[in-house]
Amino acid sequence: MRRTSRHLIRLLATGLCLAQLAGQGLAETRPAKELFGGAKLPSQGQAAPFGSYAKGCMGGAVALPTDGPTWQAMRLSRNRRWGNPEMISLLERFSKDAASLGWGTGILVGDISQPRGGPMLFGHASHQIGLDADVWFTPKPAEPLSPQQREDMPFTSMLDKSKFLTVDTRRWSDTHARVVMQAASYPQVERVFVNPAIKKKLCETWRGDRSNLGKVRPIYGHDEHFHIRIGCTPGATGCKPQAAVGQGDGCDKSLAWWFTDEPWAKPKTDPNAKPVKPRQVMLSDLPRACAAVLAAPANAAGQEMVAAYSAVGAVPVPAQNIEAIIANAQSLPEIGPLPRPRPFD
Ligand SMILES: [Zn+2]
Repeated sequence: MRRTSRHLIRLLATGLCLAQLAGQGLAETRPAKELFGGAKLPSQGQAAPFGSYAKGCMGGAVALPTDGPTWQAMRLSRNRRWGNPEMISLLERFSKDAASLGWGTGILVGDISQPRGGPMLFGHASHQIGLDADVWFTPKPAEPLSPQQREDMPFTSMLDKSKFLTVDTRRWSDTHARVVMQAASYPQVERVFVNPAIKKKLCETWRGDRSNLGKVRPIYGHDEHFHIRIGCTPGATGCKPQAAVGQGDGCDKSLAWWFTDEPWAKPKTDPNAKPVKPRQVMLSDLPRACAAVLAAPANAAGQEMVAAYSAVGAVPVPAQNIEAIIANAQSLPEIGPLPRPRPFD
């Protein structure tokens, strides 16, 4: 009898070890993007960014409700409308300000982050810690878009594709410029990424206060949406801040470089070189806290939010109290929308 129970204990212990090993093995052999891409719900606990924008993860995320008075979330099936509460709060605030600048009835929000942040199976190198969000260059229409329309609605580029790196003036308007500059005006916003042609247009035409123009950064793509990045949230000790943008409006050599051949030249490759498979980012490459974020129990309240988006065909409902999120987030100074720039001052 005693021998049997000892045997049983040994068996159980082996089983436990094996299960643990299997779990560990999975984390060691599967790329981090598969592990984080597979997480459907956020982790419980305090909201916290870990690591850097392009190499990290996030605990305690909240979802941007699919619909608000001045925003709509797009491409709901991607399940990437999770962010740090500070980011969700900023988007809510920005959406109101954009609407009062005459930007339709508010903003269309693209990807923020996955439920637990981290690397993604497709798209974005950054957006990993809940502090990045994409906003469409198309304003929110008055009529709510159906979940299907949010999947299918095509992007509209702000570029004239028949020319080299040129804004299409039939599409680009002063309101577009004001909306981008509004996004850059908030103190928590450290960068707003736009296409180099858009940055150039702003450099040439923005007649208002230029003190935030330096935050607007030129980058590939970003001609059908712009990308808002906020800084590490206060007290987030695990968050790795990025270098501050330089002084000045950025309408300088760093912008001129984009209009040379260099950024667009095909990388020189040796035809005889063996193709090297890029090394996958593994969980062990991310901050240590990310293993805990991945293993943490799910926030059950998130289930409702997932249900709200997966019911394609049903009217999406905000399944979360946005007011509570905003109340808990750091308050923004009341500066209101930027004044309309006068043409010649
Ligand atoms: Zn983005």
